[in-house]
Amino acid sequence: KALQHRTVTLPDGTSLPSIGQGTWKMGEHPEKKEEEIEALQIGLDLGMSVIDTAEMYGDGQSERIVGEAINNRRDEAFLVSKVYPHHATLSKIQRACEDSLQRLKTDYLDMYLLHWRGFAGSSLQETVEGLEALRKEGKILHWGVSNFDTSDMKELTEIENGSNCAVNQVLYHLGSRGIDFDLLPWQREHQMPMMAYSPLGQGGSLITQLMNNLNIKEIAAKHQAKPLQIALAWTIRTKGILAIPKGTSKNHVMENAEAATIELSEDDLRKIDKVFPKPDQKVPLDII
Ligand code: NDP
Repeated sequence: KALQHRTVTLPDGTSLPSIGQGTWKMGEHPEKKEEEIEALQIGLDLGMSVIDTAEMYGDGQSERIVGEAINNRRDEAFLVSKVYPHHATLSKIQRACEDSLQRLKTDYLDMYLLHWRGFAGSSLQETVEGLEALRKEGKILHWGVSNFDTSDMKELTEIENGSNCAVNQVLYHLGSRGIDFDLLPWQREHQMPMMAYSPLGQGGSLITQLMNNLNIKEIAAKHQAKPLQIALAWTIRTKGILAIPKGTSKNHVMENAEAATIELSEDDLRKIDKVFPKPDQKVPLDII
């Protein structure tokens, strides 16, 4: 049964549940295909409708998995895919988008992101023109960017139609919170939501750090949750942040969905800040 999610509002008023699903590395191992499709479908059942993929992931294989998972349930999903910077030119973006649509077996994307800022071959102005053209044709409903730091966002919003950008997707988790210093406040001021990628720190050393910390363990026990669920709930603690954890295991997907219902108190947040301090100066954007 779909859980009650907090929501994030896009600049045009579209409301989305604050926890969605990542798909990086899905589709890379044929023997895992069924498990991955099932995980995404369980996620949809639980209300995690935002599904994030990219033409880059598994060289299109991740989009194919997503296409199978949303077969007959296209309307339940909010599909996000990303274009390579070297495809983000006026002459190439149309084709890249068509190819993604074909792999996803759909005729529109809810959101199309420039995967990261390219410096060679394509200008930001040209990319925005290409994205706007796709939007006018109805092939994409919204567009945004990924891995843009504050200075990139300022540059983007100064060019024609650049402020139509609906979202910036960046790395954000307890162990990497540099954007709390300036990027997040800038986006908040411009009412532009943030999509937090790798919100679980890719399930790596962050887990050990969380498990071993008394403060975190105490907060988790209070909420009858696991430390990683606290980490996920933390990423969406304020308005305007949507996290996209990737889960292949059924249990992980269920835990991630439940994290959307955890309300951290001011006291919890203060304790968390002690373990994972907020930056007190500009930190260049962390990128994977
Ligand atoms: P995540 O932080 O989402 O971590 C994923 C890992 O954590 C997997 O190994 C997963 O295991 C494990 N995991 C998931 N849920 C739990 C849980 N409840 N408890 C314990 N372990 C768990 O890493 P990603 O890098 O995948 O980031 C999420 C998504 O963000 C990507 O899949 C992609 O869609 C997007 N992304 C975008 C980037 C960009 O440049 N725009 C860059 C990187 C990611 P298992 O799969 O076995 O369940």
